[in-house]
Amino acid sequence: MNISRNILLWMSENKFMKERIPKMGFVRKAVKKFMPGETEDAALDAAFEFSELAIPSVFTMLGENITQLSEAVAVRDHYIQLIEKIADRKLDIEISVKLTQMGFDLSEEETYNNFIAIVKKAKEKLGNEVFIDMESSIYTQRTIDFYKRVKKEFDNVGICLQAYLLRTENDIEELISINPSIRMVKGAYKEPHSLVFKDKPMVDENFFVCTKKLLLESIQKNIRPVFATHDEKLIWRITQEADRIGIKKSAYEFQMLYGIKTALQKQLAKDGYQFRVLIAYGESWYPWYMRRLAERPANIWFVIKNIF
Ligand SMILES: Cc1cc2nc3c(=O)[nH]c(=O)nc-3n(C[C@H](O)[C@H](O)[C@H](O)COP(=O)(O)OP(=O)(O)OC[C@H]3O[C@@H](n4cnc5c(N)ncnc54)[C@H](O)[C@@H]3O)c2cc1C
Repeated sequence: MNISRNILLWMSENKFMKERIPKMGFVRKAVKKFMPGETEDAALDAAFEFSELAIPSVFTMLGENITQLSEAVAVRDHYIQLIEKIADRKLDIEISVKLTQMGFDLSEEETYNNFIAIVKKAKEKLGNEVFIDMESSIYTQRTIDFYKRVKKEFDNVGICLQAYLLRTENDIEELISINPSIRMVKGAYKEPHSLVFKDKPMVDENFFVCTKKLLLESIQKNIRPVFATHDEKLIWRITQEADRIGIKKSAYEFQMLYGIKTALQKQLAKDGYQFRVLIAYGESWYPWYMRRLAERPANIWFVIKNIF
């Protein structure tokens, strides 16, 4: 299991494969399981369908590690016009972005300027938050520092933290004082052993430890705890813990990816839990899609089925 995860994560970063695999018809077909389409209109149509079930969305245009600042400006402009469109269609959609898609590898200042342009627009037009995705561990500290900097000026920003990292509980501790919005995930990248929990049960347990901390802190502080996982056992454990400490369903939130455990997504919303579905779109889906395969290598059978 771990071997296939590692191979798939290695493939997600391999330049040769990055150039060739996305052109293969059967792979393009298989990707549709996780994305309604490559265009923002396909994503907006999917968000509309979810909105009919009272399920709001999070949007992310796929792409990472851009190599020219002009690409980051195009991403910024894309989101700004998208926010206008979301407002026109009166949909409840938040944006979540990767900093390396906004220029983080090239210029922190430009990344900041691009990012806050989106944050300002979201505040003005939608009155909602913009989240920062968490990428691999080489970016963790810089991303947290970046978040703290933006949070000084804007209250409508959130950050993702990963339960597989040993440091995350401390990071939560440090962020609490700034009333953060935190989206907890297990973590999707190939990381050095020295930085992460040894095995999956330990990661799952740390997710719960971080969850408890966030739920408890949310009693005193103005924080927004978001639990982004498809792990059903963990989800029910979180709801039980929230009940036990007397936290209302409206005070925390779940998120899942489009196409994964859709029945459970609908059930959570129907049962009155706060729930958002993350809808990804865009042409640069290859590394993201490989990480989805790595999360559940059995998904490869779905790709193989599409060959035939
Ligand atoms: C809204 C959202 C935002 C995210 N943002 C980030 C981020 O910014 N940074 C980051 O590192 N990671 C991010 N992730 C990914 C996350 O780190 C995990 O890799 C991913 O969610 C799988 O872990 P899990 O919590 O679902 O638990 P797991 O224990 O991996 O999975 C639980 C169960 O869910 C199902 N499942 C999980 N993944 C898949 C899949 N790909 N295909 C089919 N079934 C599946 C399986 O039935 C599995 O048994 C995000 C995830 C979500 C839902």
